[in-house]
Amino acid sequence: MNRNFAVAKVALPLPIDKLFDYSIPKDLINKIQQGMRVNVLFNNKHNIGFVVGFSSKSKIKKLNPVINTLDKFPVVTANNLQLAHSIKDYYVCSLGEAIESMLPEAVKKSRNINADFSLIKCQNDKNKKSKLIYIRNIENDKTYAYFKNEIINVMKDKKRIIFVVPEIKMIDKAKNCFTDIPGIRIAIWHGKVPKKDMLKLWSDLAKDEIDLIIGTRSCIFAPVKNLDLIIIDDESNYAYKEDQVPYYHTSRIAQMRYEIEGCGVIYSSVMPSSQIYQLIQSKKVLLKETDSNKILPEIQLTGINYKDKMDLMVEKEIDSALQSKEKILIILNKKGFATFVYCKNCKETIMCSRCSRNLRLDYSEKKLICPYCNFKTELVEICPKCNSGYVKYGGFGIEKLESNLKRFFPQAKIIILDALPKTNNDIRDCDIVIATTKILNFPGYKPDITIIWSLDNLLNVGDFNSGEETFQLLSKLLIMTFRKMLISSSLNQDFYLLKALKNLDPEIFYKTELNTRKDLKLPPYYKLGLVSLRSFDKKSVQASYSKLYSFLKGMNTKGVEVSNFDITQRSRLREKYYKYLLVKSSKIESLSRVFKKSMSKFRSGNVIITVNVDPA
Ligand SMILES: [Zn+2]
Ligand SMILES: [Zn+2]
Repeated sequence: MNRNFAVAKVALPLPIDKLFDYSIPKDLINKIQQGMRVNVLFNNKHNIGFVVGFSSKSKIKKLNPVINTLDKFPVVTANNLQLAHSIKDYYVCSLGEAIESMLPEAVKKSRNINADFSLIKCQNDKNKKSKLIYIRNIENDKTYAYFKNEIINVMKDKKRIIFVVPEIKMIDKAKNCFTDIPGIRIAIWHGKVPKKDMLKLWSDLAKDEIDLIIGTRSCIFAPVKNLDLIIIDDESNYAYKEDQVPYYHTSRIAQMRYEIEGCGVIYSSVMPSSQIYQLIQSKKVLLKETDSNKILPEIQLTGINYKDKMDLMVEKEIDSALQSKEKILIILNKKGFATFVYCKNCKETIMCSRCSRNLRLDYSEKKLICPYCNFKTELVEICPKCNSGYVKYGGFGIEKLESNLKRFFPQAKIIILDALPKTNNDIRDCDIVIATTKILNFPGYKPDITIIWSLDNLLNVGDFNSGEETFQLLSKLLIMTFRKMLISSSLNQDFYLLKALKNLDPEIFYKTELNTRKDLKLPPYYKLGLVSLRSFDKKSVQASYSKLYSFLKGMNTKGVEVSNFDITQRSRLREKYYKYLLVKSSKIESLSRVFKKSMSKFRSGNVIITVNVDPA
């Protein structure tokens, strides 16, 4: 680096939106580079930060020195540093937090990694006409053949590709499909890759020895030289949203890389997400027409199933399917046996001692379990509050459904599928599979008939996204199913979701859905920022919340709405108390400005405040 620079600008992975100056000792002058990790003192504690720039002097009189560097070469490439700035601006985090979220665990835990990325420069070729493209995936083989063709084209120019899937289980399918491309060098990237292999991948990337990276969410950050194409398979999958700071969405990061590096992006799914649908409508994303002659199964609507009484048509349908040896899939998105436990005498519901959540009964484990923190406790017979013996189990989970079905159809082989790992063979051998939405992670399972146990339950989750989530789920299930989909519901067939599903037509669904969202000022028309405040101390959270709320209200920013937001189910989690605020604006810039002005003032003390932009 330039010898005139005596000060390093360091980004720390803390929720403080500023850079810190450190003096560069003589022995480091020739070593230190932008993108390197350094050891520094902050508040008298050792911290690892990232060098993001240099200057000749600092406003601060007495500077602490950089203690040492951790790397021989920078771990953050110039492109990724630019990307971190975009993440920081959009998701309202600090630059250090943005950088940290981009590095794989293996890299974070290692020192002196032997991978020199300095040859990777921002190669934004202005003449290149990269595009954002969306392709519907109705017939998987055809879609993958299209991906393969695109990958071959990119490789002809000696350029590179990132292929993202939502779940580890889906990596193999992609790998098997592309592995016979002549000369292709494929690497796998996900959270469970052993450290040694990840470091090898890291150094291979620096040497530009990988053509295609296939991985889950975080592989979107892979520092790839000559990146030309990002493919996001199953783009509407909710696994693409990171669940901690900076709460990024993979599709959004792909768009940022498109803007910074000029690579193309292909989004694909059975049904476009509302975000992508709106981008197609506004011509920002190009819709690639596909021809599909897939024959869709028949959809039939029937009455509601009650706890111990099955709708007659559902019963008949299962019976006749069993007789003709058809495979039956039943979707009930509620785990456990009973979904809550309550006292008939004092009406108290038994809650997790650490969370504001009902405990549910898990029949196979004979335990009460918290669905949030997995806390387990023995079954209770006496109410802990009034000491009466009137403890009852309520709600209806998949285990209860299983026991009911066993009574109705004793000859059938029935399996429950939730989060437990089961092999595809286990599932294929069964007559009836009862599943939560997890079934979608088992590619290859194709039922003859799919029964939606309760459409009403799926829709009544209560957040603005539940309509879209249900539509996405049913669309995927419809594609998997051969003969028939039977939907139990109180709704009639003119309901827009059902009409759209019948034709697998996004337009019918989104026309109504998006009009409603526009009226209610919801995404994708409005940007939302969910602020969460948390602490072990209830009073501190409350005080901090009140102050922040009146501050945000008082800012009176044009086009920005602030409201308090009660999520009862999340008011206490893992012994911490939570409060939430929702900030809304039609422009992301206004939203960011409001957060930038307010967060620095309130981020202190024992209350942790995070911002989740575009909460799912
Ligand atoms: Zn009681
Ligand atoms: Zn809990």
